Amino acid sequence: MKTKILLLGIDGLNLSTALDSGRAPTLEALKNAGYFTALTMDVPTLSGPGWSTLLTGSTHAQHAVKDNLFAGHNLLNRPDLLSRALYQDQSTTTFAAAGWPALVDPVGVGPVIQERREQQRADRHRVIARDGETYGYQRVDAEIADVAVYAVTKFGHDVGFVHFCEADEAGDLYGAQSEHYLEAISRIDAHLARLHAAVAKRVEKYEEKWLMVLITDHGQLDEGGHGGDSPQERASFVIADGIGRDNPDWPDGFAPEGLVPLLLAERA
Ligand SMILES: [Zn+2]
Repeated sequence: MKTKILLLGIDGLNLSTALDSGRAPTLEALKNAGYFTALTMDVPTLSGPGWSTLLTGSTHAQHAVKDNLFAGHNLLNRPDLLSRALYQDQSTTTFAAAGWPALVDPVGVGPVIQERREQQRADRHRVIARDGETYGYQRVDAEIADVAVYAVTKFGHDVGFVHFCEADEAGDLYGAQSEHYLEAISRIDAHLARLHAAVAKRVEKYEEKWLMVLITDHGQLDEGGHGGDSPQERASFVIADGIGRDNPDWPDGFAPEGLVPLLLAERA
């Protein structure tokens, strides 16, 4: 049985801040038990270019997403991880849930995750879009966590991506040293714990193999904000935990666009 992949994107997460705070026990446990490497994101350290690189395995020049407006992007020629997993094996089922519309909502800019309406109609691809920009990410991330736990438990899609954005929202508004930022991290950590438990339950029940992978698209400055080329803004990471299988044997350090090929190789 092929490994199932659950990629969890935590927007704007300073991993060191999260770990030092003691408010992210799940993140800490996954890092300690799993594969870990630091990643350095390219400039500008904005969500649009960052997620486009991490999710399509493309450089900024290749996907041409320059900012969060996505004007002139080349994403139709740079399919996302979920689509590429399907092209690699047409039996692949996929799932994406995000509160930042640019990642998943075909109505707005982007989306980075392709709609693939035919597969949605055939129940092979499921996309859950929410709007945290309008309704706030604390509430929307909690909804995303609920639908993601449900999807993992009920369907166990072969390749999934789930995005949490509350920490980035708090970081932008109050800075990475604020209590707001740490509270957001602690709530996201609880979402991660629920997802991990849902995967572990499937592994126990169906003897499946899963890889739970955690990443961020950029850091947050202490005073709040990102986009520049400081080490804190460019700092990202990959944590990958094998559940029902070994941790992946990936190199220590690679370019951000190198993640998708590594993930696809786990499905080979
Ligand atoms: Zn971001």
